[in-house]
Amino acid sequence: MKIPSFSTLTLIIFFISTFSPAATADGHDHFLECLSEYPDNHAPISHLVYTKANSSYTSILQAAIWNLRFTTESTPKPHVIIAPDHESQIPPIIRCAKQTGLEIRTRSGGHDMEGLSYRSQVPFVVIDLFNLGEVTVDAEAKTAWLGAGATLGALYYHISQKSLLLGFPAGFCPTVGSGGHFSGGGDGTMVRKYGMAADNIIDARIVDARGKILDRESMGEDLFWAIRGGGGASFGVIVAWKVLLVDVPETVTVFQVSKTLEQNATELVQKWQSVAPYTDKDLFVGILLNRIDNENAQRYVDWVKRYYDYMTPYVSSNPRSAYVNYRDLDFGVNNVVGGRAMHRRAFGGKRYYKNNFDRLVLVKTMVDPENFFRFEASIPPIHSWSSDKGVCSI
Ligand SMILES: Cc1cc2nc3c(=O)[nH]c(=O)nc-3n(C[C@H](O)[C@H](O)[C@H](O)COP(=O)(O)OP(=O)(O)OC[C@H]3O[C@@H](n4cnc5c(N)ncnc54)[C@H](O)[C@@H]3O)c2cc1C
Repeated sequence: MKIPSFSTLTLIIFFISTFSPAATADGHDHFLECLSEYPDNHAPISHLVYTKANSSYTSILQAAIWNLRFTTESTPKPHVIIAPDHESQIPPIIRCAKQTGLEIRTRSGGHDMEGLSYRSQVPFVVIDLFNLGEVTVDAEAKTAWLGAGATLGALYYHISQKSLLLGFPAGFCPTVGSGGHFSGGGDGTMVRKYGMAADNIIDARIVDARGKILDRESMGEDLFWAIRGGGGASFGVIVAWKVLLVDVPETVTVFQVSKTLEQNATELVQKWQSVAPYTDKDLFVGILLNRIDNENAQRYVDWVKRYYDYMTPYVSSNPRSAYVNYRDLDFGVNNVVGGRAMHRRAFGGKRYYKNNFDRLVLVKTMVDPENFFRFEASIPPIHSWSSDKGVCSI
């Protein structure tokens, strides 16, 4: 299990620079050539393309790496990062990546626990959506459209500018991106009353593996279902969401009780477990576990591993499972680079999706039969999935 570490917010100044195919290396020249030769009926993109030759490549890449264990030199990096500022720029990226054998990793807020939005062993391009973060709130209709690069904090802020009596039931952390969060579910303080973020999405726009931009009507209800909890990255690049806002009181009460183990924290947690499901739906009580001494990183990871093992008898079993937004590659990974021997276990879709996994495989087969949107934890199309063996080879 990989554990995220968090940094304080760093202000980064982006230097936008143009790309020149002639100046690139690492075999991605063909991709850049393809992009530069693309018929120019799309908004210009050259100033939004960053290769390792650009002085701002590293700052752009690191600006949204929230698991600091993946900021090291040895973390595999994208050949190219592209930050589109219009959705029409995305289809050429997909078509050129396909033509030149590069894979796509899509990043919205960069909070993926395993860093799968910006690291991979295969040659890849990151589509970073931070420029697609516009939020438009219609307080009268109680809806909002937001770009998939909008963070939860931006959404909450824009809602509050229009009404203090409206809110949206999503996660706690303001820097989390809506692209990954909503497509994996999205759980927060209003979950008991209004469900998850994904339950409150009423439309979306996605660029699919053919490079077509689809909305709810044109994508159909199966794909629309899949991207609300199945994770977006297996199906395409989600560019925008339309959400239903919910009623909230103008004033809320927040309280915090801190207890150490010596102060009977265990007993408190046990009591909380027995009453929490039955309290009023307007009350949300959660538990935050903190280690309060200063260990070095490895000792901290070791402690978390011991905690993970300690909890095993008390969590889901046969198999142990997890919420897709808290991804855990210890459950297994797809065979993205060929040799299955590289991985301890094949990707275990049922551990995240249970009985929904079969339907997700069918949707994937329908919308991306060639498995273009594949990655270490993607849903496979049916022909590459062998459920009796429990393995996936892509
Ligand atoms: C500090 C922190 C706090 C968190 N708090 C909560 C919480 O309160 N509640 C909760 O439910 N979860 C929480 N999470 C988990 C979080 O919801 C997931 O990590 C989520 O996937 C992050 O989305 P992102 O866009 O920021 O991440 P990214 O790393 O950008 O993306 C995560 C995954 O989604 C894919 N993806 C991203 N954008 C798109 C897109 N536009 N189209 C297609 N695929 C896309 C990526 O390729 C990757 O596979 C938290 C995580 C952290 C690190």
